[in-house]
Amino acid sequence: MTDSVRHTDLPRPSPEGDSLPEGGSHSRLVDAFARTISYLRVSLTDHCNLRCLYCTPKEAGEKLAGAELLTYEEILRVVELAVGLGIRKVRLTGGEPLVRRGVLDFIGRLTAIPGLRDIRLTTNGVLLPDMAAELFRAGIRKLNVSLDTLKPERFREITGADCFERVWTGIRLARKIGFDPVKINVVVLKGVNDDELLDFGRLTLTEPYQVRFIEFMPVGQGTAWSRDRYVSSTDIRERLAALAPLLPSRGGAQEGPASVYRFEGAAGSLGFISPISHQFCDRCNRLRLTAEGRLRSCLLSDEEIDLKAVLRGDGSDTAIEKALLQATLNKPKGHQLAQNGFRNCHGQMSRIGG
Ligand code: SAM
Repeated sequence: MTDSVRHTDLPRPSPEGDSLPEGGSHSRLVDAFARTISYLRVSLTDHCNLRCLYCTPKEAGEKLAGAELLTYEEILRVVELAVGLGIRKVRLTGGEPLVRRGVLDFIGRLTAIPGLRDIRLTTNGVLLPDMAAELFRAGIRKLNVSLDTLKPERFREITGADCFERVWTGIRLARKIGFDPVKINVVVLKGVNDDELLDFGRLTLTEPYQVRFIEFMPVGQGTAWSRDRYVSSTDIRERLAALAPLLPSRGGAQEGPASVYRFEGAAGSLGFISPISHQFCDRCNRLRLTAEGRLRSCLLSDEEIDLKAVLRGDGSDTAIEKALLQATLNKPKGHQLAQNGFRNCHGQMSRIGG
């Protein structure tokens, strides 16, 4: 990727509204169940600077070689065509997106795509102390930071790295710089971090973060997935309600897949993401582009389209658009986890990006 883009010259993403439709009436990405697809999640790399026990396979799996990843040019091309079809929101994820070389320039170019009004990033936060200011300058405003514990020692046990302080510093810095919202993603694991639910809840009393509790999902063979570690959102919410009554945020507004609540007078809020216990498939508006360039129609189904082969084969706009339309049509009505006996998906979370 060239280094020719100067951040200061780049157009900034517009605030929430501009004149383009919300992937709505003009969108061509409508699936077989009348869901309009307006959100593309892009995994920039499967490489990560942490080794979370629930995400990274125990046997150090093979990492993708550079040539197996989509190039930034290829990703930009796909996003541009996807926006032409109706995508309005992109989330960059990984692996750890911030470890990929050239990511800031790439983001600068992404923010310049007309019609793409909302670009977000999910990160483990380890590199935020070094990169938060530049990320902001490159055009990112909305951040999700994954942090499963508030205890430094436990952080090391879960992730294999002694980086709690860096992540915590990064979160605070991001807020200070002006990222809004800053959301903290917590995957709740029984016997690992579920004794910290109230600590995370208390954090929102004084700090303006949205702490989002995510149900543990059976994705990624060879990880620590086990049904015994799963805690449902209902359980989590009941335990938090022991601290103080939970009030539905803005009239119980559903924010994407999260149900959002807050404690009275709290600076922050609490989100509950329940892919297992309360499927939100009927509202699913996403496609995923994996690090190796596959279009995945559903996080919890291994069916994918090899878009990299299309890009590096025929490579025409028509062929790429056709693949995006096909991936949309491939979206299942809902995930089949319960029917499949909660069998683990083969796909690696670090390649898919969550
Ligand atoms: N490295 C970045 C990060 O840590 O946020 C982005 C990639 S990570 C795969 C994206 C999100 O997926 C993180 O919040 C992570 O906790 C979550 N995740 C990974 N494996 C999961 C699983 N089996 N169930 C639920 N969430 C999972």
